[in-house]
Amino acid sequence: MAASMTPGTGAPPAPGDFSGEGSQGLPDPSPEPKQLPELIRMKRDGGRLSEADIRGFVAAVVNGSAQGAQIGAMLMAIRLRGMDLEETSVLTQALAQSGQQLEWPEAWRQQLVDKHSTGGVGDKVSLVLAPALAACGCKVPMISGRGLGHTGGTLDKLESIPGFNVIQSPEQMQVLLEQAGCCIVGQSEQLVPADGILYAARDVTATVDSLPLITASILSKKLVEGLSALVVDVKFGGAAVFPNQEQARELAKTLVGVGASLGLRVAAALTAMDKPLGRCVGHALEVEEALLCMDGAGPPDLRDLVTTLGGALLWLSGHAGTQAQGAARVAAALDDGSALGRFERMLAAQGVDPGLARALCSGSPAERRQLLPRAREQEELLAPADASLPAGTVELVRALPLALVLHELGAGRSRAGEPLRLGVGAELLVDVGQRLRRGTPWLRVHRDGPALSGPQRRALQKALILSDRAPFAAPSPFAELVLPPQQ
Ligand code: URA
Repeated sequence: MAASMTPGTGAPPAPGDFSGEGSQGLPDPSPEPKQLPELIRMKRDGGRLSEADIRGFVAAVVNGSAQGAQIGAMLMAIRLRGMDLEETSVLTQALAQSGQQLEWPEAWRQQLVDKHSTGGVGDKVSLVLAPALAACGCKVPMISGRGLGHTGGTLDKLESIPGFNVIQSPEQMQVLLEQAGCCIVGQSEQLVPADGILYAARDVTATVDSLPLITASILSKKLVEGLSALVVDVKFGGAAVFPNQEQARELAKTLVGVGASLGLRVAAALTAMDKPLGRCVGHALEVEEALLCMDGAGPPDLRDLVTTLGGALLWLSGHAGTQAQGAARVAAALDDGSALGRFERMLAAQGVDPGLARALCSGSPAERRQLLPRAREQEELLAPADASLPAGTVELVRALPLALVLHELGAGRSRAGEPLRLGVGAELLVDVGQRLRRGTPWLRVHRDGPALSGPQRRALQKALILSDRAPFAAPSPFAELVLPPQQ
């Protein structure tokens, strides 16, 4: 069997070389690694993959011997047939070991924390929370993702800031953590390369909504970070990967359980994702809104989620006595400008011109807009007229149709690696629970191309749900926290 080193780890070669070369005459008592078509067939037919099978598949993904069609077929087989906890745990480790393990100074051991989301619409929490946690004394080596399916990606959002570089070596990450206390980077050839390949393939093969694939994808990135605590924001609702709270709870338990089996302290927050988080959806628009949150302002649901998740992390990592005390510390970091200061340092350390970083962080919302990519046109939608009801209460703005239309307008990818239109997006002009007069604008779409088509306008108008009940305070998106064993 030809030996293929697992890149960067110095680990022994993973079983599973699919080149078919050099097996004759070698004194190898271990059974022949299975060929990819056989592994795919086993999973397709509902079988269980052994550790050697899974490591073989991951090795073939990373060394390039697996064809795109084979990767897609295996992902679909896993999506349809599932994996048990042990398979999921092995897949997580194999993905993590496809690159380098990050090593930090011993003094940071208790400080290392991170947060990850299963994917939402308008979810810019990571942009705010990483610097807010850094301002609270944590180190946050966040390895984040790109857009997946209809959901937006933290890395894509950050790349709308001119100069921001998401590819950083482990050595550079340590410098970033020393300078800013946080960094937000992408997987790379050094960092979880196997997840990079599978993530991009899942995005274009309708295999995003798989419990073991989500678990392994998220936890592999976090495993290499060497964390003291991790909180995963598991979304449920109409625009989440899993619409129903039961399924989301199952995912949360898998994340917590697989994390614990691998020595990673993971808690999972179940949070609602029916409406967009905040008022802005789209890369540059979401950066603007994240900055507003770090001004101590911005939409209440965004601030609520940032402080809730941050509070849980500070509590789990021993930085706060209770979750509520942790949440208060995160809120203070938003209000006193220290989170924004950390964000500015992170931008400059990750390649943004320091003058631009300063201007973005200290400018007014209007000034910020001039500094970020903007779409060519704006188009407003009006609340549909209804003779019997001159006004209505906004029950819901459904996030999924909004995300799907924005995807069509260039905010999402249909092919792996496709460039995005970073200025494309939408601003909600109304809040859930507020009264809205018919015929007044409720949505502003930012687009580069021609006017919205009839079907696009109809899809967007259906996203606005009005009722005749009295105005109400919008509920918090946070529903419950699934804790690690012995918390
Ligand atoms: N984030 C990830 O990194 N992977 C997923 O599969 C979903 C969200």
